[in-house]
Amino acid sequence: MTELKQIISKMKVLTTILLLAIALISCTGKDNTEVKNNNENHSVDRDNEKEDIKDKDQVDTNDKEDKNNNEKDNNEKDNNSINNEEDNEKQEHTTKENNNIDDKVEIDYQKIKPNELGHIMVIMYHGISDNPPYHVTEKQFLEDLEYMYENGYRPISMRDYIDNNINIEAGYTPILLTFDDGLSSTFSLVEQDGKLVPKTGTAIEILERFSKEHDGFDNKAALYINAYSIFDGAGTVEERISWLANNGYDVGNHTSSHAENQMLSRLSSRQIMEHIGIVDQIIKNAVPNYTVDSLAYTFGNRPVKALRNLVEDGKYNDVSYHYEVALKEGPSGPYLPPLHKSFNNLNVPRARGSKGDIQDMWWFFDFYEKHPSKKYISDGNVNRVSILKKDEDKINKDKLGDKELYLYEIEE
Ligand SMILES: [Zn+2]
Repeated sequence: MTELKQIISKMKVLTTILLLAIALISCTGKDNTEVKNNNENHSVDRDNEKEDIKDKDQVDTNDKEDKNNNEKDNNEKDNNSINNEEDNEKQEHTTKENNNIDDKVEIDYQKIKPNELGHIMVIMYHGISDNPPYHVTEKQFLEDLEYMYENGYRPISMRDYIDNNINIEAGYTPILLTFDDGLSSTFSLVEQDGKLVPKTGTAIEILERFSKEHDGFDNKAALYINAYSIFDGAGTVEERISWLANNGYDVGNHTSSHAENQMLSRLSSRQIMEHIGIVDQIIKNAVPNYTVDSLAYTFGNRPVKALRNLVEDGKYNDVSYHYEVALKEGPSGPYLPPLHKSFNNLNVPRARGSKGDIQDMWWFFDFYEKHPSKKYISDGNVNRVSILKKDEDKINKDKLGDKELYLYEIEE
């Protein structure tokens, strides 16, 4: 009995020490200040450009490093079957040493090299038609999906992106597919045997089909609508929006009007709240209890600086709205993930789903083939955020929630 009591009291002391240590690590005021400064920097477009350029500079410097990593990758693969046991032992050792976490390690960190502070591309599509760079043909869209599938990209929902709830297999890279303008070639319903189903040849029907035929490739996408011509076809607007929401898609706000003279930068505070509020209420009325908190700026155009807070929070007809994420138009980058300190939630870049110009999707596909270390690579554990120790100062620890942060180093 006495022995048991001694053990319990020892455990209590150890737990207290551990909790104090965690509190000390996670509660540095410096982080908060840096986040604020970063957000301020990024609220001006010019500063964003600066970062783009900075990123390109990094690209050059990292070129060699990536090449070395690739070569190492190949060597590792060759030796893998022989050294498997040895690797596992090494792995366990590193884990304990780095973080004192006595957790079971599910993956080989040196082989998979998870990087959950790496880039997550957000793709901007519109409809299915032969009209690049904003629209794609069915053939091209299938080629896009095939490339993503073969090259380790896995679609995630906007919900999971916002909530940092990225649940994909270890070694894979999340990608976010978005579709603007509520076009009937993106999604529309037809009646079939008394049921409403997606029309053949629409982007969503193609994605549904592709997902069923490709294991692990989820049918996830976010669709942004205006207040009119919302996925014209069979069914009511409510039925169309709820079909999407009930089948795991995100429906977001593209503001009420798509006219050029109604861009957000040209509107007063009252008009901005009206343009956002109208669509906000269309979605909320169609699917009660559904959280709509992402928005795509028409023409990628934001309100003037003094009124930008109205995107995040506002009120129309006595109904409040709140937006966590607002999306730009492509071509742009870099695709910092929401957990990155420099992530600007109200000006998230997107790449056009196109094969055309610099910084369009296929340009970035090529870029990440050359610089794989820039990509987000999943550790396969939704409750853990694995990043390189050298990137520790880049993560926004306030947004970690109850997820475990795991730091590691790639061994030479
Ligand atoms: Zn649009």
